[in-house]
Amino acid sequence: MGTELYQGIVDSIVKGEARASEIGERIVLPSSFIGGARDMRLQSEYKLKTPDQFDKFVCSKIPDETKHPELYKLVVKHMMHRPCGEKNKNNSCMIDGNCKYYYPREFCEQTTQAKEGYPTYRRRRDNKTVQVRNAHLNNQ
Ligand SMILES: [Zn+2]
Repeated sequence: MGTELYQGIVDSIVKGEARASEIGERIVLPSSFIGGARDMRLQSEYKLKTPDQFDKFVCSKIPDETKHPELYKLVVKHMMHRPCGEKNKNNSCMIDGNCKYYYPREFCEQTTQAKEGYPTYRRRRDNKTVQVRNAHLNNQ
């Protein structure tokens, strides 16, 4: 992922935060997020449709803290799913012992297009972890 793209994501997250403070609701996804305002305005021909296209714009990975410190801080603060499952069975996402958002996800070498239209993103097993609340989380 190039620096400009990282900067675009940082800008989007920062804008999202500014907007969130105005309406009193936390919004942390960039507006280009699938289903987001920008995404909905895109012409069909520009929509991401293949695993290669998703990989160009979406990255389910903890950023490099040295190369992209600002992005790293924003992702750790806003984009990580709270510890759940075995690490926190009482998180609000837990229903009947399972995370309703399917976290933690499996590590996965390649992005694939699922039948229902949602991609399964590549999740690297890179041994990187970050502390979120009382747990160490990785790219899952
Ligand atoms: Zn969860």
